[in-house]
Amino acid sequence: MKLIIASNNKGKIREYKDIFEPFGFSVTSQGEESINLEVEETGTTFEQNALLKAQAIYDLSHCCVISDDSGLEVEALGGEPGLYSARYKGLETEHERRIAVLKGLEGKENRNARFVTCICFIDEAGMPHLFTGIWNGVIAEKEEGTNGFGYDPIFISEDGNGKTTASMPLSFKETYSHRAKAVRELISYLQSR
Ligand code: IMP
Repeated sequence: MKLIIASNNKGKIREYKDIFEPFGFSVTSQGEESINLEVEETGTTFEQNALLKAQAIYDLSHCCVISDDSGLEVEALGGEPGLYSARYKGLETEHERRIAVLKGLEGKENRNARFVTCICFIDEAGMPHLFTGIWNGVIAEKEEGTNGFGYDPIFISEDGNGKTTASMPLSFKETYSHRAKAVRELISYLQSR
């Protein structure tokens, strides 16, 4: 059974190949299938956006599809950057986007935040299955650490001993992150089918 990964991100493609191949799927990606589709992320939740991306590819291919959507929600910023995490305030670089979050929190006591991932798997019958992972934490006072990507240098998770995620070894995220949690849900679903 063919499964198409709705992403052009090499890291994600590798990760989903490793998850699905042991379950007998022949895993390929949007790029390998020459599907040049830019799906507009018009949803108002991570779930809706993950579903929109997966559904668009399913409608073209009628194959199983996996997609995901993630972001950082900061309580005192009304949930921003949220769905716009990758393009927050139209800023070009990850560093600029992190600084925008830090500036937004200046003078604010509440630094609670969370990472959210939603994974959408459309099965062979065209039925979508959604798996959400949440990672709670707080926003640091300043950037720290060089591991990871995105908002990792300013996110101190509830499991992080007061250190930013970017200051922890990479194996830390593989165990505790929002993505790791959603992936575990997905794997337990695949095992139960
Ligand atoms: P995506 O939907 O997985 O591509 O994530 C969208 C954006 O959310 C990324 O470009 C990052 O800015 C942010 N993000 C998602 N997951 C993480 C993470 O694990 N660490 C840091 N930033 C993340």
